[in-house]
Amino acid sequence: MNSGKARKTRKIRIGKVVIGGNSPIAVQSMAATQTQNLEATARQIEVLEAAHADIIRIAVDSEKDVEALRILRKQFPESVWSVDLQENYRLAPIVAPWVDKIRYNPGHLYHLEKDKTICEKVQFIVNAAMDNDCAIRIGVNCGSVDPDYKERYKDDLVESMVRSAVDHCQMLDQMGFENYCVSLKDSESQKVVDANRRFAKERPDVPLHLGVTEAGLPPEGIIKTRIAFEQLISAGIGDTIRVSLTLPNDDKGQEIEVGREILKDISEGRFRSVPENFLEGLNIIACPSCSRVENDKFVDLAQDVRKMTEYAAKYKLTIAVMGCRVNGPGETDDADLGLWCGPTRVNLKKGIEELGSFSYEEILGQLKKEIDQMIQDKFPQTVS
Ligand code: SF4
Repeated sequence: MNSGKARKTRKIRIGKVVIGGNSPIAVQSMAATQTQNLEATARQIEVLEAAHADIIRIAVDSEKDVEALRILRKQFPESVWSVDLQENYRLAPIVAPWVDKIRYNPGHLYHLEKDKTICEKVQFIVNAAMDNDCAIRIGVNCGSVDPDYKERYKDDLVESMVRSAVDHCQMLDQMGFENYCVSLKDSESQKVVDANRRFAKERPDVPLHLGVTEAGLPPEGIIKTRIAFEQLISAGIGDTIRVSLTLPNDDKGQEIEVGREILKDISEGRFRSVPENFLEGLNIIACPSCSRVENDKFVDLAQDVRKMTEYAAKYKLTIAVMGCRVNGPGETDDADLGLWCGPTRVNLKKGIEELGSFSYEEILGQLKKEIDQMIQDKFPQTVS
């Protein structure tokens, strides 16, 4: 479905899916199951295929994950897959034969092999993509921006994201690789709009994958996503989309349905207004979960946090609930209060301050104590 103004981007191919130019905007989602849990991941892929996902992303962090993907590929030979690589970029050549696209995060390349340059690591990924006819996504995320760029542009996080993306595009161009796209994701809709507009102005030729990261639970997560997509897609910015919602695994297909509905509305000029004061009160950001989630209780925890905090809905506070340490620590830095999950305990933070870790049974009570204290400190006039 084509929506909004004509797009100037070049066409790239992700398996049998073409995005960019006047191609339909592809709608994608990501498996939230442990990749090595073959049964659960197969079920997740079936759920997303049944929802007619154009592309399915699967996280891979180890050779065992790659082996699981190789086995699953036999079951789903036609499915169009993107692999999500974070720190362990070295897996690129062994996973590339089983997928159609490799997403790497420039902000996580510095972790391993510190003796190698970022450019050498990118060349390694490009070689794997070239050898296996894969596309690449340069996936910049607000919760894990390359520390060098964060430091260089410390007064403008959006600029640090845009500069990181533009520099990586230049690296791929110099390596003679064109089959790539870019994403610039933040949990704040307006920052997503700003980052993608700035990038599109500088690189109108590069296809963009749009998403509000950690948008959270429906309906708030859908509204946040709409705010960004309506502004960008109607302006001809955006070639593929992912609606990141915190949902039980069997409901993951909703991400695709919501994505298609937003595209349809935009193409028919139906722009949904944002409820009054929507961004004035309590804002819960939560990740959509993926194979890296440290504990299956994560989605329930996010839903429990939303339920427990209803009494504080009028207070302008941001609470982040994250599934693991990949984006957890970074994303929670910017929240008033943040939780990021460990295998048996949940880490609680107040901005960048660590408040300790608590069991999954204790964490809600502890969080409530911190919220009450914060309300007293920040909104004394409202406390009798
Ligand atoms: S925070 Fe962790 S569990 Fe959540 S989506 Fe990101 S990588 Fe996956």
